[in-house]
Amino acid sequence: MKLNRRLFLKVAGAAGAIAAVPAATAGATTLEEQAAVNSARRGVLVDTTKCVGCRACEAACTETNNQPEPVRLDDPAVFKTVRTTDTRHYTVVNAANTGASAVPARFIKRQCMHCLEPACASACLVRALDKTPTGPVVYHKDRCLGCRYCMVACPFGVPKYEYDSPTPFVQKCTFCADRQSRGEAPACTSVCPSGALTFGMRDDLIETARERLYAKGSKYVRYIYGQREVGGTSWMYITDIPFEKLGLPTDLGTYAYSSLTQASLAAVPFVLTLWPPLLMGMYTFSKRREQVAAQEAAGKETSHE
Ligand code: SF4
Ligand code: SF4
Ligand code: SF4
Repeated sequence: MKLNRRLFLKVAGAAGAIAAVPAATAGATTLEEQAAVNSARRGVLVDTTKCVGCRACEAACTETNNQPEPVRLDDPAVFKTVRTTDTRHYTVVNAANTGASAVPARFIKRQCMHCLEPACASACLVRALDKTPTGPVVYHKDRCLGCRYCMVACPFGVPKYEYDSPTPFVQKCTFCADRQSRGEAPACTSVCPSGALTFGMRDDLIETARERLYAKGSKYVRYIYGQREVGGTSWMYITDIPFEKLGLPTDLGTYAYSSLTQASLAAVPFVLTLWPPLLMGMYTFSKRREQVAAQEAAGKETSHE
């Protein structure tokens, strides 16, 4: 029996969409361990009061990921619509709905938030999405089964699927994990000309944000978006207009979605421990058989020539 992606979806669906594994977050149990985990985390502080809407970050992102240039880079009319990321553009800059009819005064860069307890990773049967200790939530395409549970689980609607590809995969911002592993900052943060994007240690960024929020005469909304949302995110935002107007969801709560998933699965240890590797094994075995069959067919064709 061939276990292709479509069949896998049926099998997995029959088993119940709750079949998920806990996110690969550090298992810190003491305050000291938790502090060590926190101190290793990097993040980005997005200050929307400084963003000028130049979209250099978009261009840098597509360049570093070998993707097509962003649409209408020099056209301000692009801000008339609210765009979302897609499989070939991991970040977009939108204009905020400030209520002003003229040129919008605020812009917001959107991308994967690289949650501290990512729901996408928690929902993934085979850990194709994985939280790294320093921050990036990375995607392993070789492990992906194409079930798309990550897309359903993400509270920010980030993961996108290559529906138009014969070999589809999930795509999303990588937080430039490769660059970070070489000691470099993410491409988008390195080119921002206005200081709207600050890359650094997450704890330090929270301090920086607080200083700006509580400085004398500050016009900032006294809130750091992402410090606590869904358990905290690596990318955080500060602004001087209501967060709703920036298009950020403000009803997510502070509880990590992955914890909810894990709690519901605690009662079904078989699902947690055996079901994912079983499915992965079946899928890998089936794929290998398909490869061998294809090689044999190619060999026969060659011998007939
Ligand atoms: S924003 Fe969505 S895709 Fe990104 S880490 Fe969080 S849950 Fe995963
Ligand atoms: S961190 Fe890297 S992948 Fe993510 S938006 Fe910035 S440049 Fe793109
Ligand atoms: S590069 Fe900086 S200033 Fe330009 S759009 Fe991106 S975040 Fe805003």
